[in-house]
Amino acid sequence: MLIRKAYKYRLDPTAEQAAWLAVLCGHARFVWNHGLRYCLEQLEQGKKIPSAFELNKLITQWKKQDDLSWLKEAYTDNLQQKLKDLHSAWMRYFDKSLAAEKPRFKKKGKNQDAIRFVNFNKYCQLDAKRVKLPGKLGWLKFRESRQVQGVIKNCTVSLKSGHWYISFQVEQEVADPCHPSASAVGVDMGVARFVTLSDGSHLKPLNAFRKHEKRLAVEHRKLSRKVKFSANWKKQKAKVQNIHTRIANCRNDYLHKASTSISKNHAMIAIEDLRVSNMSKSAQGTEEQHGTNVKAKSGLNKSILDQGWHEFRRQLEYKQSWSGGMVVAVPAHHTSQTCPNCGHVSKENRQTQARFKCIECDYMNNADVVGALNVLERGHRLLACGESALVAQ
Ligand SMILES: [Zn+2]
Repeated sequence: MLIRKAYKYRLDPTAEQAAWLAVLCGHARFVWNHGLRYCLEQLEQGKKIPSAFELNKLITQWKKQDDLSWLKEAYTDNLQQKLKDLHSAWMRYFDKSLAAEKPRFKKKGKNQDAIRFVNFNKYCQLDAKRVKLPGKLGWLKFRESRQVQGVIKNCTVSLKSGHWYISFQVEQEVADPCHPSASAVGVDMGVARFVTLSDGSHLKPLNAFRKHEKRLAVEHRKLSRKVKFSANWKKQKAKVQNIHTRIANCRNDYLHKASTSISKNHAMIAIEDLRVSNMSKSAQGTEEQHGTNVKAKSGLNKSILDQGWHEFRRQLEYKQSWSGGMVVAVPAHHTSQTCPNCGHVSKENRQTQARFKCIECDYMNNADVVGALNVLERGHRLLACGESALVAQ
């Protein structure tokens, strides 16, 4: 089995290298924005989005223009990759099943700067803790925490909160895995508990955002009082971005630990097929409905997004496919109202948020555990019926 993997490290460029990276990122950002503007014009004229190939040809045209000739100092690869990304962003946007956002203009200093170097083995080189990038960038140091394994296909250099990072994409051939465990588990995802497993264990919610929310609000207020683009404003801006980065890091760390531990211990993981992107959208309300419960819902939705259920599921899926296990997504309706003992479905079974007591057979358990048990049962049933449509392996 061929797997793709990324290794990300903090980069330590010299001042000169950093300045040049910033220039290259600026060029790439310009190309993205210029390409996006072109696409929007095409749409306005009732035409289709240009193909990836057509977009690619634009770069050559632009370089010939007098006012854009400075683009020549950028590496064509970097610019082409940006337009390739732009094209993929449009494709995602037009794919109704993804509910992706429309591509947006990139602004300087918004943690959106990144350039990708393709054909790594041709133009770049890796040596313990150093990487050679094309042209005058030359050798750059990075903080290696674990050794890169596999064949490097490309690498991406990005700027986040004032620090440079490098991420190597590798391909690695590994033996077809066989999951070491034979057990199956159902997962119930919730707000009070991030996940509850059918074996009765649970993980507390992370709510990294909540924890840092107050500080973020305070620092934001300070930012709004400063003169835009002044030295103090920039300093404050960096502070705000740092908090954002810290929240993202906390959350990532938490999600990875959680998904690894569940994936390691269970060959089959059944989860609810929650359409997270739909759930988080519905709170805005449609024109007819005007979003009843908007306030309550947006609170719940914030927690959902906060805890990254979508990302959690993605991690479970790829970790299971690496270890030879599987993830089964099951329909979510009534999982919290069905009695796992006698199958009776009733709202009244769920006495409180936390307590489940069947009105038919008196079966009692924690409501989230009941949810997880039902999810597991549905997972088994799906597999037994051979309904493969929902099985992600
Ligand atoms: Zn019952």
